[in-house]
Amino acid sequence: MDKKLLAPVLSNDHEQVAADLHRHFNFTLGRFDTDDISGYMMTALALTVRDRLMERWRITKAHEQGGERLRKVYYLSLEFLLGRSLGNAILNLNMQDSIRQALSEFSAVLEDIEMEEKDAGLGNGGLGRLAACFMDSCATLALPVIGYGIRYEYGMFQQSFHEGRQVEQPDHWLIAGNPWEIERTGHTRRVKFYGYSDYYHNDAGKMCVRWSNTQDVLAVPYDMPIPGYKNDKVNTLRLWKATATDEFNLQEFNEGDYADAVAQKNLAEQITMVLYPNDSSENGKELRLRQQYFLASASLQDVIADWVLENGENFEDFAKYNCFQLNDTHPTLAVAELMRLLMDDHGLTWDESWKITTNTMAYTNHTLLPEALERWSVKLLRELLPRLLDIIYEINARFLAVVAHRWPGDVSRQQRMSIIEEGGEPQVRMAYMAIVGSFSVNGVAALHSHLLTTGLFKDFYELWPEKFNNKTNGVTPRRWLAHCNRGLGDLFTESIGPGWKTNLSELENIRPLANDAEFRKRWQEVKRQNKERLLNRVSDKCNVGFSLDSIFDVQVKRIHEYKRQLLNILHVIHLYDRITRGDGEGIVPRSVLLGGKAAPGYALAKLIIKLANNVAQVVNSDSSVSPYVKLAFLPNYRVKSMEIICPGTDLSEQISTAGKEASGTGNMKFMMNGALTIGTYDGANIEILDAVGSEHFFLFGLRVEDVAEYRLHNNPNEIIEQDEDLKRVMRLIECGHFSMFEPGIFEPIIQSIRNPMDPWMVAADFRSYVDSQKLAAEVYKDQDRWLKSSILNTSASGYFSSDRTIQDYARDIWKL
Ligand SMILES: *Cc1c(COP(=O)(O)O)cnc(C)c1O
Repeated sequence: MDKKLLAPVLSNDHEQVAADLHRHFNFTLGRFDTDDISGYMMTALALTVRDRLMERWRITKAHEQGGERLRKVYYLSLEFLLGRSLGNAILNLNMQDSIRQALSEFSAVLEDIEMEEKDAGLGNGGLGRLAACFMDSCATLALPVIGYGIRYEYGMFQQSFHEGRQVEQPDHWLIAGNPWEIERTGHTRRVKFYGYSDYYHNDAGKMCVRWSNTQDVLAVPYDMPIPGYKNDKVNTLRLWKATATDEFNLQEFNEGDYADAVAQKNLAEQITMVLYPNDSSENGKELRLRQQYFLASASLQDVIADWVLENGENFEDFAKYNCFQLNDTHPTLAVAELMRLLMDDHGLTWDESWKITTNTMAYTNHTLLPEALERWSVKLLRELLPRLLDIIYEINARFLAVVAHRWPGDVSRQQRMSIIEEGGEPQVRMAYMAIVGSFSVNGVAALHSHLLTTGLFKDFYELWPEKFNNKTNGVTPRRWLAHCNRGLGDLFTESIGPGWKTNLSELENIRPLANDAEFRKRWQEVKRQNKERLLNRVSDKCNVGFSLDSIFDVQVKRIHEYKRQLLNILHVIHLYDRITRGDGEGIVPRSVLLGGKAAPGYALAKLIIKLANNVAQVVNSDSSVSPYVKLAFLPNYRVKSMEIICPGTDLSEQISTAGKEASGTGNMKFMMNGALTIGTYDGANIEILDAVGSEHFFLFGLRVEDVAEYRLHNNPNEIIEQDEDLKRVMRLIECGHFSMFEPGIFEPIIQSIRNPMDPWMVAADFRSYVDSQKLAAEVYKDQDRWLKSSILNTSASGYFSSDRTIQDYARDIWKL
C-alpha cells in the first residue's frame, strides 16, 4: 500500500482552514460573499471538517483491510440519537483553535455557527443515545465496530405547547441537506416482503427453499463518519434508506397507468419515512415490523456480501470474525434472517447455519416493563415474512425439544418458554427468540441484570446461565463533559492534566481538591456560569425567570409514569402549599425544570405535561411564592438541550419506581457535571450511590422488594388520609386549583394516584421524597458542603464513561 495514503495530508492550520471554508462556501455551495452567511457557513465548515474526516476514514479502512483479518462487530439498532456532529468532530480532530481563527476572517463565531446545525434525532431517548455514545467510544478505542441503523426522513417529532398541552410537529431534519452523510449506491441491497416459501429439489436432489413471488424494496446505504478522539480513527455508521425497485407493476404499466405505477414507489419509501415515537412501549404497527426486518436484512446481506467477496462461499470462520450486537429486540429478526440467508442463499445446512447464528448474535435487553416487550402476531408474519415464519417455527420446535430433554414432562415450562405464545391470536415473543438465538444476553445495570435472571428470564437462566451477563451503561465524556462543559473541562485539565478525556477514572485525582477552598471557589464559579447559560435558555424558551442563587432542580427525560414526573410535580405543589399557607419558613429558593416528550398516543403522559404547565402558571404568577419556587417546562427536550442543561444543574432527579428504570444514562451525565442526585434505589442509581457514597446522594423511597410487598396491600387513599401534606396537595388538584377553566381534566391523574393497584407507587413514596428534598435543600444552604459533594460526584463518575462500558463489551462479549 502507498505509504502516503496512510497519513492525513490536509493541514489543520488556520490559513488552510480559511481557504477551505472559502472554497466550500463559494464553489461547493455556490454562495457569494454578500449572501447571508450563517446557515451556509455551517455547511461550509462541516464540509471543511468532513474533508479531514474523509482522509482518516480512508486510512482507518485501509488499516482494517491491510494486515491481518480483523474480527468485526456490528451494532444493530433501530435508533441512533446522535444530536449534532460538528462540535464533536471539531473537538475530536482538535481543530478548535484554528477554526476559531479562520472564522474570525468572516467575522463569525464558532458557537453561533454551531447553533445552525440540526440535531440528528434518530431516536427516542436513552436507548438511542446509548447507541450514539457507544459509537463514539468504539471509535476512540479504535475498535472495528460498525453501526447499522435506519435513515429516517423524519426523526423524533418536535414538541411545542398549546395552552399547556403537547403539540407534535414533524422533524424534517434532512430538508437543508445533511453534510455528514455519504450515499453509497454501490452497496445497495434488496429486501424481500410478502410472497411464499417455495420448496423444491435442486439438481443434486436436495430439498431446498426459495422465497418466491416477493415484493422487493431496495436498501441504499448512507454512511456517517464517526471520529475517534484525537486518534485519526473514523468508524462508520451505515444508515439505510428504502427506495423502490424500478420493477413497476407490469400490468398497470401496460394498461397505460404509467403514473400510477411510478407512484407505487411511495409504498417502498414509506419504510424509512418516520421514526416511531414510542419510548418503552411496544408499537404493533405493520410498518414498524417492516422497518425492523428492513434493517436486519439489509445489514446482514451487507456483511455477508463483504464476507463472500473475501472468502468465497466458505463460511467456516464466519462466526470467528463477525459478531452482531442487537440493541434490544428491535432487530431480532436478524436471528431468523441469518438462518435464511445461510441456508437459502448460500446452501448451508440447518445445523451449520444454527451454529454460526448462535455464535454471532448477542442481545442487550433494555427493559423489564411488560408493555415494552415486543410480540408480533403470527398472522402478520405469515403474510409479510412467510419464509421467516417457517424458520421461526423450526427454531422453536428444536428449542422446545431441548427444554423437554432438560425437564422431561414439564409441559407448563415448555409453554412458558415457547417462542410462540399460543392462545387466541398466536404471537412471536421476540425477547425469547433473541435469547435462544444468541450466545450472550446482557442487562444494562447490575440490578436490572439481576432482575432479568431472577424474574423475566428465570427459566432461560436456569437452562443457560453462562449466556447471561451485565454491562452497566455509560456515556461519552467527550460530548457530555469536554464539549458541553468547557469551563469544567479546562479546570480539570489545568489541575490533573488532559488524560481524563480518554481515561475518565483519572477524575479520581481531583478528589483531594474537594478540601481545597480555592479550588471549590473556582468550581462554584464554573457552575454559576453554566447556570447562567441555562437560566437564559429557560428565560428564552419558557419565559420563566430563574434566580442564579436558587437550587437548579432538574428532571429531563421521556415523560412516563414509571419515571414519576408526577412525584416531582406533587413536591412543587407541596412547596407552593406550604408558602401560601404561611409555612414557608426556611424554604431554600428552588428552580424546578422539567423537560421531555410524551409518546403521542400516551394520554396520561400528555396529561402530566398539561398538569406541569398549569402548576407552573399558578406557581410562577403568585408573587408570594415565585421568589421561593419556580417551575418551568422546557419544550422540545433533545440532545442539544441536554448539552446546556446538565452542566447547569445542581440537583438531578432520578426518581423512577424501584425496579422499573433499567439503567438510566441521564443520571450519569448529571453526575459527571457535578450535580448531586436525588434518587431511588433503581437502575444505575445504585452504582452511582456506591461510587460516590451515601453522604453525597439523596436516597429515598421503596426498594424493589418493598414494591413487590406493597403491591399486595398498597392503600394510597389511606396514605393520603394520614399524611397532612399529601392530603392538602391532593385537595388542591381535586378542587380544580390548577384547572380553573377546565374543571375535572386532571381526574385521570387523581385516579392513578388513588388507585390501590397503582404500579408506580406515587403516594407510597411521597413522604420519603419530600423529606429527602428537604434534606437536599438543607445541604444546599451549606454551600461548602454542597460544593464538596459536587466535586466528589464528578470525581467518582469515571466508571460511567461509555469507554469503560465498551471495554467490558469488547472483553466479555465481542472478544476483540
Ligand atoms: C441521556 C438522554 C436521555 C436518557 O435520559 P434518562 O434520564 O436516562 O431517561 C434521553 N434523551 C436525551 C436527549 C438524552 O440526552
